[in-house]
Amino acid sequence: MKYIGAHVSAEGGVQNAPINANAIKARAFALFTKNQRQWVSAPLSAKTINEFRTNCEKLDFKPFQILPHDSYLINLGHPEKEPLEKSRNSFLDEMKRCELLGLDRLNFHPGSHLNAIPVEKCLERMSESINLVLNKTKGVTAVIENTAGQGTNLGYTFEQIRHIIDFVDDKSRVGVCIDTCHAYTSGYDVKTKTGFTETFKKFDEIIGFKYLMGIHLNDSKKDFGTRVDRHENIGTGFLGDSTFKFIMNDSRFDNMPLILETPEESLWGKEIALLYSFAGTGAVK
Ligand SMILES: [Zn+2]
Ligand SMILES: [Zn+2]
Repeated sequence: MKYIGAHVSAEGGVQNAPINANAIKARAFALFTKNQRQWVSAPLSAKTINEFRTNCEKLDFKPFQILPHDSYLINLGHPEKEPLEKSRNSFLDEMKRCELLGLDRLNFHPGSHLNAIPVEKCLERMSESINLVLNKTKGVTAVIENTAGQGTNLGYTFEQIRHIIDFVDDKSRVGVCIDTCHAYTSGYDVKTKTGFTETFKKFDEIIGFKYLMGIHLNDSKKDFGTRVDRHENIGTGFLGDSTFKFIMNDSRFDNMPLILETPEESLWGKEIALLYSFAGTGAVK
């Protein structure tokens, strides 16, 4: 079964996210558990936690349908000691928030080398960050998102993601999220049928489908291989409809959160309905 949703607002408190998701007929959702542009946020109160759990239960959102996203400030591969420390502490705080909310995964961007350390060293530093945080938390999987490879961001090839996973001690608590826009602009042709088949064959060989714990459904404002991260609404960017039709007809994407992060929020309800209408239009494998 497919679970489609969007990265909804948690304004006024995380307990509002499931309500906002339900309002657009989403069957999955993403959220920030704290202000994504600040290092420090107030701890979650017992009341907020209870309301979040109650709303999820009432509206039938289980942990596997929810993909929280971490703050944009965090760089788990930071070349310098102090900012690295800050990132690790902040990531730990986010993992603990997920734990308190009863969530089972946290989606994050791996980080950047800032032209100060070699790629491999940066990737291994990310693994070390993941190890430190997994050791201090329970039940939450760290989900690495593929990036567009903009600037010095890493995680834009399956090999780089594999390298991070290779150095993680507890492989049962590391996962991957694939963003369709990032995949395309980083140089994976997910637009044509042969390209899509080839991309996910490679994904399976290099990383493995057992690690896949979510998808970001975004069209792209930028063309193939540009390494720019600019999302577009479904069907109106360089990808068009095809990628999303392939996903909707492929059981390898069942039972995980499929999340829209498209710029025009007022279209999310329509996009969710459109995506569900793609199911059954032809199997692609
Ligand atoms: Zn994304
Ligand atoms: Zn993006």
